Amino acid sequence: MPSVARVVGRSFSTAKVLLKEGPEAVLRLAPDDEFAPALRYWTGSRAHNIRLYREYGPPPERAESESEIYRDLGLNFIPPELREDQGEFEAARGGTLPSLVEMKDIRGDLHIHGLTVGGADLLEEYAATAMRMGYEYIAITDHLRSPFTPYGLDEAGIRSRMREIEHLNRRLEGLTLLSGIEANINKDGSIDLPASMSRDLDLVIASVHSDFSMARDEMTLRIVRAVEENEIHVLGHPTGRIIGKRAMVHLDLMRIADVSRERNVLLELNAHPARLDLNGEGCRRAKAAGTLFALGSDAHRPEAMGNLLHGVAQVRRGWLEKRDLVVTMPLSLLLARLNR
Ligand SMILES: [Zn+2]
Ligand SMILES: [Zn+2]
Repeated sequence: MPSVARVVGRSFSTAKVLLKEGPEAVLRLAPDDEFAPALRYWTGSRAHNIRLYREYGPPPERAESESEIYRDLGLNFIPPELREDQGEFEAARGGTLPSLVEMKDIRGDLHIHGLTVGGADLLEEYAATAMRMGYEYIAITDHLRSPFTPYGLDEAGIRSRMREIEHLNRRLEGLTLLSGIEANINKDGSIDLPASMSRDLDLVIASVHSDFSMARDEMTLRIVRAVEENEIHVLGHPTGRIIGKRAMVHLDLMRIADVSRERNVLLELNAHPARLDLNGEGCRRAKAAGTLFALGSDAHRPEAMGNLLHGVAQVRRGWLEKRDLVVTMPLSLLLARLNR
């Protein structure tokens, strides 16, 4: 297979390979009638399998499908993303499993950078990609200029960008571009965007791009201030992690989720593969606080819009349903929600 760098182990029915991208993968062969049980076993987490075995005895060695296995145990089908022994058995018994959001429910992407290559041509490429993906809307959210994002837009730049987008929208059919910005949250929780400017934009994302190593209380206060004292719509990539490079910042997520709900600010699920932030667990905890979520690819080029799929996978791990994500709303409802 083209993605395999080398084979590191093999037996009668398995092969362990090192992928060119880095991780190892194990390939397993199973006869047809053992395929579903094997799929369930090898893709379910260890914690889920242990609980299943303890409470229901050894699962069958033959079955037609994964749903048949769960049905025979008196359970509703537990989707793979939920197999963590974190309440899914109780929910499957009680018929309260969430109906997880799917890619087909997604009507748009709320985090896109158009500026890196620059100009109207790239906007048109984004628009064309969005139409191919069947979206109703996308938000162009370039950086606001700051010491940490010097290539970002200043106020004059934002104004001319808004006119450009307005102009393009007049020519587009079935797709609307929203004028947005991604502002940096300063150390004291302020953002360098005048309230008048925020009100003229369709979507303001505020994110931490600097001073990541603050103590928990300080960081929480910084973000609470950003949410309470500014006109923002979305708290971008709330924990700031870069997978394999930077750990999550220390913060009180539940407090931030509470304040965001009170202020009608959305928490972002940033679908950039290096971020996936909030992660599944974060989504689930924030959902319990009653917050709503935004979803965006954080694309810096049109092809990267496809990364939204990874974000959907992550929110599914967080038990999120269609109603938890604003990008499942039609444009009119979304705008009403953003205008508050
Ligand atoms: Zn960002
Ligand atoms: Zn961004």
